[in-house]
Formats: sequence, structure tokens, C-alpha cells
Amino acid sequence: MGLFDSFLSDTMLKCPVCGTELGKDLQTKALGQGMSSWRVGDRVESLDVHIERGYVESRVCCRGCHRECVFRAVIIDGKFAGIE
Ligand SMILES: [Zn+2]
Repeated sequence: MGLFDSFLSDTMLKCPVCGTELGKDLQTKALGQGMSSWRVGDRVESLDVHIERGYVESRVCCRGCHRECVFRAVIIDGKFAGIE
């Protein structure tokens, strides 16, 4: 167990292989362990990392087909823009 930050998507994340719904939040430890959560449009702030434009990649294990799915929380102009 650890502390995660979460990106909250507007849309359901789905496994690209089998289509199993994987929830709407993407958890990451890449930005430290702030226990923050961001919705689309929120400014992404972390004590450890500042991203003006880029993405945070996170892997989710699909409970349908047990593959590892890679999602990216996209950050544009310092704000969370969505998950792809
Ligand atoms: Zn799957």
C-alpha cells in the first residue's frame, strides 16, 4: 500500500484489448505522494514535480483479460486535460 495521487477522468477508462471498464480514475505515484486528486481543467500542482506540458503515464492491470493497460494523463498549460 502507498499513497497515490489521482487523475479523475470525465469518461470511463476501458481496456483497449477486451473493453472491460476500469473505472474513471488513474492513480499515480509519479508526482510524489501528495494524495491529491485532479479533475479535468484543474491545475496540476505537486511539491515534487511541475509539468507545464506533457503527460503522466500510469499502468492499470485489466481485471478482465489481466493485461497491463497504459494510460496517459495529459497536461496542457499546467492543467489536466484528460486521459488517453
Ligand atoms: Zn482487458
